[in-house]
Amino acid sequence: MHHSTPTPFPSRPSPHRPSAEPASQTFDAIILGAGAAGLFCAAQAGKAGLRILLIDHARKLAEKIRISGGGRSNFTNRDLDPRAPQRHYLSQNAHFCRSALSRFTPQDFVALVQAHGIGFHEKHKGQLFCDHSSNDLIDMLDRLCQQQRVQRWQHCRIERVDFQPAADNAPEHPPAHGHYQIHTERGLATAPRLVVATGGLSIPKIGASDLGYRIARQFGIGLIEQRPGLVPLTFDAPTWHPFKSLAGISLPARIATGVGKNATHFDEDLLFTHRGLSGPGILQISSYWQPGQPLCIDLLPGLDLTASLQQARQHSRKLLANELAQWLPARLAQTWTQQSPAWQQPIDQTADKALRQLADSLQQWHITPSGTEGYAKAEVTLGGVDTRALSSQSMECRQQPGLFFIGEVLDVTGWLGGYNFQWAWASAHACAQALAQPLIPATVADSTKRRNA
Ligand SMILES: Cc1cc2nc3c(=O)[nH]c(=O)nc-3n(C[C@H](O)[C@H](O)[C@H](O)COP(=O)(O)OP(=O)(O)OC[C@H]3O[C@@H](n4cnc5c(N)ncnc54)[C@H](O)[C@@H]3O)c2cc1C
Repeated sequence: MHHSTPTPFPSRPSPHRPSAEPASQTFDAIILGAGAAGLFCAAQAGKAGLRILLIDHARKLAEKIRISGGGRSNFTNRDLDPRAPQRHYLSQNAHFCRSALSRFTPQDFVALVQAHGIGFHEKHKGQLFCDHSSNDLIDMLDRLCQQQRVQRWQHCRIERVDFQPAADNAPEHPPAHGHYQIHTERGLATAPRLVVATGGLSIPKIGASDLGYRIARQFGIGLIEQRPGLVPLTFDAPTWHPFKSLAGISLPARIATGVGKNATHFDEDLLFTHRGLSGPGILQISSYWQPGQPLCIDLLPGLDLTASLQQARQHSRKLLANELAQWLPARLAQTWTQQSPAWQQPIDQTADKALRQLADSLQQWHITPSGTEGYAKAEVTLGGVDTRALSSQSMECRQQPGLFFIGEVLDVTGWLGGYNFQWAWASAHACAQALAQPLIPATVADSTKRRNA
């Protein structure tokens, strides 16, 4: 098997600890990445009686949970559609996430949070946040792991992953297809199952890395191209110049992109920034936006602005900007009308055509982003490990028995609002259930399938 060839991972010098101890330790499963998915999977698999090792290179535990939801972690969403949970997710393989999400629901996670006495509240559109702090969630997951005697090697660099196939006559009890060997700066760890839960690329400064994608490549598993998602959008300087002074203004909007069957829109708040647009509506649309495509933004959704302006003109002599300020923030109305001399008149002296053009500019604002704020600001990574290589029941790779991928490293990306954590919990749960099943060597599994066919 070509997988036994070691693949070197770029190493970082470790000034803090002496380097690798040669002693090998054996576990039932090793999980790489102690974030949302890795911790939850470890706790569940530990509960099923398995000896689990969790390895993470970050100094602190689950930093992404800590910073999520403004420090209160939007840990799930009640609006997840139980009949079509995939509706709130993007993936090249749209239905892949369905099985796991319907077997571990937001209600299941809520029950866990309640059982641990963690207070939470619903904010907006089904979003559930911790009352106090996301640390409550991290403590809960950490406690669950400790109760199940999960071993954790934290702040531990992973140097290499190898797969050693079982010799045909190996006397294994239970029989295994082979072993994964994880070479780390703390020594060698071995297990018949390896779970990759190393997340996506966003926020590299708290530990994000491409390790999961490199492992996929090592084992011949396909990748869907990655790009930042749930991310503010930026514009080139000349395009953004007229709007720069609007930084800090937030207002409800309808934001659309794409055409035909690829058209998508969100009705959410939009925020002007110095470099471009942000706010929940923009973060949502950013996951659907394709470079080069324009956005079409309605800054006054639900209002027929042309008709409202025409009506106002019958009894008002105010400057157009002042009239507009009854529907829009005054600073926005002022700045917007400065784009054309025809919009700087009292409303009763403004021609019909100019009113219509102003209304169109505000309600069908076509503007093309030049890019995004990138992984430094993105909440998630779109793309990742191609789910077509995995079982949607177990998260196990079909061609590489014993190798699992869970959480954000997969090509499954949720909407803003708790959907990404729900995917982390649900995929971790599906994987833990599979880990709890007895090992069947690939040859036996294949002949069983053939017999049953
Ligand atoms: C600012 C911000 C706010 C967010 N808010 C929310 C929210 O409120 N609700 C929501 O649903 N989602 C939110 N998300 C998204 C959510 O945090 C992720 O989707 C989720 O954490 C993914 O879980 P995961 O376990 O797959 O990956 P992570 O939680 O990212 O965990 C991956 C782990 O792998 C470790 N790792 C990575 N590379 C290596 C390596 N080479 N060696 C060893 N270990 C490694 C990392 O240190 C990390 O601990 C937010 C994201 C960001 C950035």
